[in-house]
Amino acid sequence: MSKIRGVVLVLWLAGITQASELRVGWAEVDVTPDMRAGPVFIAGFGQNRKATDIADPIMARGVVLSDGQKTFAIVSVDVIGLFHANVERIRSQLQGIDQVIISSTHNHEGPDTLGLWGPAPTKSGVDPKYMQRLERGIVEVIESARRGLQPVTARIGRIALPDLIHDTREPFVKHDELVALRFIDRQGKDAGLIVQWNCHPETLDSKNTKISADFVGYTVQELKSRFGCPVVYLTGTVGGLLTSLRVPITDDQGKELKDGTFEKTERFGKKLAAAAATALERGEPIELTPFQARTRVVFVPCDNKIYQALRRIKVLDREAFHWDGDPRQARPADDSTQRIALKTEIGWWRLGELDIAAIPGEIYSELVLNQVPDPAPEGADFPDAPREPAIYEQLSARHRMTIGLANDEIGYILPKRLWDEKAPFTYGRKTAPYGEINSLGPEAGPILCEEFRRLVRGE
Ligand SMILES: [Zn+2]
Repeated sequence: MSKIRGVVLVLWLAGITQASELRVGWAEVDVTPDMRAGPVFIAGFGQNRKATDIADPIMARGVVLSDGQKTFAIVSVDVIGLFHANVERIRSQLQGIDQVIISSTHNHEGPDTLGLWGPAPTKSGVDPKYMQRLERGIVEVIESARRGLQPVTARIGRIALPDLIHDTREPFVKHDELVALRFIDRQGKDAGLIVQWNCHPETLDSKNTKISADFVGYTVQELKSRFGCPVVYLTGTVGGLLTSLRVPITDDQGKELKDGTFEKTERFGKKLAAAAATALERGEPIELTPFQARTRVVFVPCDNKIYQALRRIKVLDREAFHWDGDPRQARPADDSTQRIALKTEIGWWRLGELDIAAIPGEIYSELVLNQVPDPAPEGADFPDAPREPAIYEQLSARHRMTIGLANDEIGYILPKRLWDEKAPFTYGRKTAPYGEINSLGPEAGPILCEEFRRLVRGE
């Protein structure tokens, strides 16, 4: 009897040890568009910005993590965003991966992958052949990273960098925490890094015609050479609106470098890399196993008239659903549909002591950090809208991280009580603030925050 019990105990312990061994693999694939194959329209600012040259590559970089029982993958691509349908196609080609987050850095100096930046406002800038290559590249990243899984230990570092983001919209709330993970192999060498920061990569601005990954390319290169290992850079909170433009960066002589220049972009990228390195030097060990995850499809009404029109003429290639008021289910739209909804997805991962919120667009920092003003500012369109349950209020692990544009790009996700299209305008503005024009509507914030709250609670 006691002997059998002993065997059971040993097997049970073996199960635990196996489950708690962290293994991680890395890979990257160059997905720079081929300019000889046809015009490449650069996304992010005005339409018809045709690429004339390639300054640095557009990459898909990924990491696969295993706790011995479950295998999770994260990929980040140097593009403006990917739709949920792209992610579904990528997932359908993968086997043996339990969870996948495909995110974009939201690069404003790379190819149009959404459709909004073609030769004219009514013409998509997406090259379907390029999208196929991009999807294949992402699949390749995940498969190759999985083949390289090796046992590692992990450390985490965090640092506040308020001077490396500019907030262009009141209230000024900066999600200014950089989070970095460092993985160390059995030989004590660096196996790879994950760096997560909250900023629009758009330092090269609206006139640049050279394809580039913006500051992210320089950040990754710098960290790769400092640590001698692969690096995955993730974009977190960028709404509300957090940008690299107008961040004062000076040269060695103290002269301020201009937006739209490679000098500023490189300097900014390297500064960010140095800050990430500092965070990692001060870092601490973190337990990243066991893995747990919940994801959920969510329907969000699309009240943006421009998006509706662009969807009808296929500039935005998205399936529409009947909005009946239920974010959990909706049937495909038909001619009788009054109000359409789009299908998107939210996710919550718990990797040991780290909580990750996977948010399908550009969420406002106010909604992540629980800083939606109370009372609402005068002039708001919905001053009585309840404050949404904030994303970070739902996360109780010792450490947390946001991955924005995760598995979809649905545009800005605003607090409803900051929605401001109608005069009078908030904060004494003469004109409407920027943001609403690139959002599905005022319901996106409340629905996604409430569904995230329920997702984490398992409701
Ligand atoms: Zn944006």
